This record gives sequence, structure tokens and C-alpha cells, in this order.
Amino acid sequence: MNTVQRDRATKMPSNIEYEVRYRKIRYPRLEFKTGNLVLVLPLGYKDEASLLKRHERWINSRIAMINEALEESKNLTLVMRTKEEFHYVIKKLLHKYEKLLGKKINKIYFRRMRSKWASYSTKNNITINTMMQYLPDELLSYVVFHELLHTEIRKHNANFWRNIERRFSNHDELEMQLFYYWFLLQKEMTQSQMNKI
Ligand SMILES: [Zn+2]
Repeated sequence: MNTVQRDRATKMPSNIEYEVRYRKIRYPRLEFKTGNLVLVLPLGYKDEASLLKRHERWINSRIAMINEALEESKNLTLVMRTKEEFHYVIKKLLHKYEKLLGKKINKIYFRRMRSKWASYSTKNNITINTMMQYLPDELLSYVVFHELLHTEIRKHNANFWRNIERRFSNHDELEMQLFYYWFLLQKEMTQSQMNKI
């Protein structure tokens, strides 16, 4: 199929902005990418309006959640560290938890990631999102411990969360903060990119 359809941004009747992307897929799907609604549609798909109507409740509840996160994120402050300070703190935490768990990781990478704070690979490497540079120490500890724990327990099963709970009994609160910081940093990044233009 050679139909070329350009991706575009548009508005819902209720004034919610969304973006349309056409892909070679069979069924349409709705996604939220860092707070923005994206409709991923099969080539030639015409029935946008009824698709939106069908998912209106889901869309509205997601938007309410995002607005709450944006509101909460106003109370947060970004920690100012140099890149060197940030790498130092992360490496110190890694050593601390490696000792504690009696494990060793292979390599650590720092990389800008679009959908997660950090990750653990089967090659025993840990990747840290460079956006973490601006998070408070407690959140850095929490994320590093989480990834290190994957050396022992791969999946997020009950045992995994029991181990998290033992060290971070306030993990629900920390997860919430991470969620709000994500929104705050996305917003900051978009603005600083805009300022450069
Ligand atoms: Zn994990």
C-alpha cells in the first residue's frame, strides 16, 4: 500500500488537542505521550469522530489525571547538580547497593530516555536516564535500588515489591513523586527547547 498520509495535529470538538499518526496497522489505537493525546490510525482510516466519541470517558479520565500531575508538579523543585556531581552520586549509590545485595553490575550507561527513569538489561547493565540529574537524593536512591534489585529478581512480582517495601516503606509516595517529576521535567525540557529557537 503506497498511500501517503501526512501526520497532523488537530482539535477535538471539546477543544482537546490531539495528534494523528498514520501507520500500517489494522486497528486504530489511542495513546498518551507525555501528556498529549495521539491517535494512531490505519492508513485511510476516516472515522476519527466516532473513535473519539467511543473513548471519550477514557480520554477525559486520563486528561484529569495529567492535569492533576501538572498541578502537583508545581510544588516540586528541581535539584541543581552538575553532570559530574550527578554521575558521582549515582555511582556511589550503585556501590552502596551492590555491597548490600552482594551483586555486581557490568556497566552503567547514562542516556536520555523517553519513557523510563532507568532500566536493567539481561547483560547485567544499568541505564540511567539523564533527566534524573534533577531529582532529589531520595528518589535517586530509590531508582538505583530498584534497578539493582533486578539483578536478583527480574520481574516486578510480589517478592520484588516485598524487598522494595523493606527498604523503602514509603515507595507509593516515591512512585507518585517520580510521576510528578516526570511531568515537570518534560515541561521544562519542552520550554528550554523552545527558548533555543
Ligand atoms: Zn523494574
